[in-house]
Amino acid sequence: MYKRVLLKLSGEALKHDSGNQIIDSNYLKSIAEIIKSLYLEGIEIAIVIGAGNIYRGKLATEIGIDRVKGDFMGMMGTVINALAVSSALKNIDVPNVVYSALPGISDIVLDYNKDSADKSLKEGKVIFLSGGTGKPYFTTDTACTLYAKELHMDAVLVAKNGVNGVYSDDPNKNKDAKFIKNILFREMIENNLQIMDLSAIELIKDEDIEIRIFSMDEPSNFLDVVHGKDIGTICKKEGK
Ligand code: UDP
Repeated sequence: MYKRVLLKLSGEALKHDSGNQIIDSNYLKSIAEIIKSLYLEGIEIAIVIGAGNIYRGKLATEIGIDRVKGDFMGMMGTVINALAVSSALKNIDVPNVVYSALPGISDIVLDYNKDSADKSLKEGKVIFLSGGTGKPYFTTDTACTLYAKELHMDAVLVAKNGVNGVYSDDPNKNKDAKFIKNILFREMIENNLQIMDLSAIELIKDEDIEIRIFSMDEPSNFLDVVHGKDIGTICKKEGK
């Protein structure tokens, strides 16, 4: 079983079945319950949430917004999502703290600081790493592998909406796409597999940190993954 993990949730997942709302309130509660079940196992948990339900920077230029501003809109979206999930966790008595890579919004979140984040994890608090990397032109995938290195995670758990792991091609577009159970970071890069940003994989490719990619559609998958069960795709470095 992993001791310290970084859980990646896509922003899109929070939207779930909510129609025009950015967050599905029932789904928010379910996600909080799932995180609580991991917390009760005694695992140290850091969470990175995307902002696809609110904004993605690459949409900016299409509507006349400067790309850098669009990216900051996306990063601010990740703070909004983190605050939502943090509140849902507080409601069910899971201690947690929200950090942000975007400085200066310290009325509501803490500026990210490695030592403080590490201490919070050791104290048994769930931590949110919001604001992405704090820099435009990246995505939260890169924030995940960056923080996974910095905070010495055992694994990055990537919970995907509507897909259960890595395929040889996009399974929604190519019905012959094959599911891949185990893959090396090097192979993901060489084959240009876009399940995560390849800049994120570049950062982690020589590390002893596994990436587990699995479907979040089945709630029991989360516990199964942290218990080391063989579900989804396991990505690792050569020779590990
Ligand atoms: N973003 C950024 N830098 C980062 C992380 C995120 O500029 O380090 C912006 C970027 O515009 C991105 C958006 O925030 O599209 C939302 O993040 P992401 O696309 O990763 O969200 P997800 O697809 O996981 O919901």
